[in-house]
Amino acid sequence: MNTTRHNWTKEEIIALYKKPMMDLLYEAATIHRVNHDPNVVQVSTLLSIKTGGCPEDCGYCPQAARYHTKISTNELMSVDEVKAQALSAKLSGSSRVCMGAAWRNVKDGPDFEQVLEMVRTINKLDMEVCCTLGMITENQAHRLAEAGLYAYNHNLDSSEEYYKEVISTRGYEDRLETIANVRKTNVTVCSGGIIGMGESVEDRVGMLVALASLNPQPESVPINALVTVEGTPLENEKPVEIWDMIRMVATTRIVMPDTQVRLSAGRTQMTREGQAMCFFAGANSIFAGDKLLTTPNPDVNEDMKMFEMLGLRPQKPFIKKMQPETIEAEDSVYQPLGEKPKWTRPGHKIEKNIEASASKK
Ligand code: SF4
Repeated sequence: MNTTRHNWTKEEIIALYKKPMMDLLYEAATIHRVNHDPNVVQVSTLLSIKTGGCPEDCGYCPQAARYHTKISTNELMSVDEVKAQALSAKLSGSSRVCMGAAWRNVKDGPDFEQVLEMVRTINKLDMEVCCTLGMITENQAHRLAEAGLYAYNHNLDSSEEYYKEVISTRGYEDRLETIANVRKTNVTVCSGGIIGMGESVEDRVGMLVALASLNPQPESVPINALVTVEGTPLENEKPVEIWDMIRMVATTRIVMPDTQVRLSAGRTQMTREGQAMCFFAGANSIFAGDKLLTTPNPDVNEDMKMFEMLGLRPQKPFIKKMQPETIEAEDSVYQPLGEKPKWTRPGHKIEKNIEASASKK
């Protein structure tokens, strides 16, 4: 029941995903209860520390500079601004702050030094700190670890096959490389994906095979439902059915019993009953705050009302893993090497992405 397997086959996971709903829920909820307290949910706050202007072409993302969306862009936030927002997130019950920057990759230099200072500052507030900054090298991962980073997020998004239908500016192996670099440190891995991008059940399952095969499996797996944004190539995709979300959460819970399964983007389209079903199926983390980078998210007070109604408690920080120590910049072993990660440039063409870049809405 609580043995973690890394050799799941696609066929086995498809069979799970397609089980009658009541059987799937029962199996997932049973595994969830063996491995986690079913009444505790970890709450993270996502801060967009640098918004928009990204050179990548992810078909779902309003922050890609090439698409014509109405988001307001902002340069890197100051350490003081981030500290103020982290304190307010802590007061509202968040145990983790996840900082997202719309970068293809980290470049050594003043901006990265500023992010490292943000990590040190938030860790000293006794909150878990997560970053999602794009591709990173092994040395950059060590520098983040020394600063006190608790988790690094780098999503696989979908199956390797479907990834090519959504993004052409980098390859799946680049994602795996960054995850491998994070694994060379004591920073935990957060990696998941998005459903509702036009992918098949096989693609959803293909992503789960890739994540479950990682050894160790990611400590946290966000499951996002696509939030369509006008101007992006995926603006016309149909909303994800709640039953698809529940199936995806339950299947993730079964194949990754120890991981925290995070109900991420798309919660504004779900009823409380739908979210409750997801918690029952094994989701045990959410993002709080009225925005998820650039897309809407339920108000934090609404979430707290839902927690009260369902008898859920927010998880305290550092329950799953000890708080990392913060090493000050002057005492660091790892110094900047003036590097940026190398990545493959598959360069294949995705018609939808090209059309969205060219259209002048
Ligand atoms: S998802 Fe990240 S990498 Fe892709 S375009 Fe958006 S900000 Fe850039």
